[in-house]
Amino acid sequence: MNTTPGQPALALNTGFAIPQLGLGVYQAEAGSEAYDAVITALELGYRHIDTASIYGNEADVGRAVRDSSLPRSEVFVVSKVWTKDQGYDQTLRACERSLQLLGLDQLDLYLVHWPKPETRKDTWRAMERLTREGMARAVGVSNYTIRHLEQLLATANTPPAVNQVEFHPFLYQRELLQFCRAQGVVLEAYSPLTRGERLNDKTVCAIADKHGATPAQVLIAWCLTLGLVVIPKSVRRARLMENLDSIALKLDEEDMDRLGALDEGFRTCWNPEELP
Ligand code: NDP
Repeated sequence: MNTTPGQPALALNTGFAIPQLGLGVYQAEAGSEAYDAVITALELGYRHIDTASIYGNEADVGRAVRDSSLPRSEVFVVSKVWTKDQGYDQTLRACERSLQLLGLDQLDLYLVHWPKPETRKDTWRAMERLTREGMARAVGVSNYTIRHLEQLLATANTPPAVNQVEFHPFLYQRELLQFCRAQGVVLEAYSPLTRGERLNDKTVCAIADKHGATPAQVLIAWCLTLGLVVIPKSVRRARLMENLDSIALKLDEEDMDRLGALDEGFRTCWNPEELP
C-alpha cells in the first residue's frame, strides 16, 4: 500500500471541513525536528497539523506551514490553550501568543486543552469571543468527558466543534463517541497508535497481515472507518508516509468487530474522569 488518494474530510458544526487525518506534533522537539516533520508531512500530502502551546513547537510549526508552497487556506492548523493560561483574559492572551508564535492571523481550530474546573466557564466565553473576532475559525475542547460536555453545553452559546480525547481499540470510549455524535461534536482520536505500546497486539497484527498493511495503519484506519479525526504523531518520513497511506486501507465489518472487542480501558495518557 503506497498510494495516497484524496484526503477525506469531515464537516464541523461551523460548516467548515476538517481533514480527517492530521499530524500530531506532541514531543516533536522544538527546532529542526518539529520543522522538518511538518514540512515533510505537508509535502507528502498531510493538510492538518495538531499542535499546542505546551508542546513548545508552535514557532517551528508555523514556519513550516509558511515555508510550504501551500496556500494558507489549504492547511488546517490547530492549537490549544494550556491549563495555566485558562480564564477569560488569559485565554484571549494565550491565543494571541500562539498566533504570534505561529506567525498566522487565524487558527482553524483552537481547543481548551484540559477541562480545568475553576475557570471552565470563563475560558469558554473567551473561546466564543475568539471565533467572533476571527482569531479562530472554530473552537473546541480536549479531554472532556460526557459530564464535562454536558456542563459546557448547558450554558454555551457556541457548542464545541470537536472533542479531542485518547481513543484507540484498547480504549474504545463508545458512550462518549455516541454522545459526541448525538451533539454534532466531531471526536478526534489522540494517541491513536497507543504511543507504540500495542502495535504488537496479535489481533492488530493478524488484520494487518490480512491486508498487507502495518499495525499502525490498522489502528489509524479503524479511527477513519469510525468517522473520527485521527492525529498520529511521527517525525520520520517513512512513518509519515506509512501513516498517511492508512487512508487507502479498507477494513471490513469483521475487522472492525475484532478491533472493537479489544477494549481494555488502556490509557497511555491520564484519565480526565479524575477532574470534577
Ligand atoms: P501516537 O499514538 O500518535 O504515537 C506516537 C509514537 O508512535 C511516537 O513514538 C512515534 O515515533 C511512533 N510512531 C509513529 N508512527 C509509527 C508507525 N507507523 N510505526 C511505529 N511507530 C510509529 O501518540 P501521541 O501521544 O503523540 O498522539 C498523537 C497526537 O495527539 C500528539 O502528537 C498530539 O498532537 C495529540 N495529543 C493530544 C493530547 C491532548 O491532551 N489533547 C494528549 C496526547 C496527544 P516517531 O515520531 O519516532 O516516528
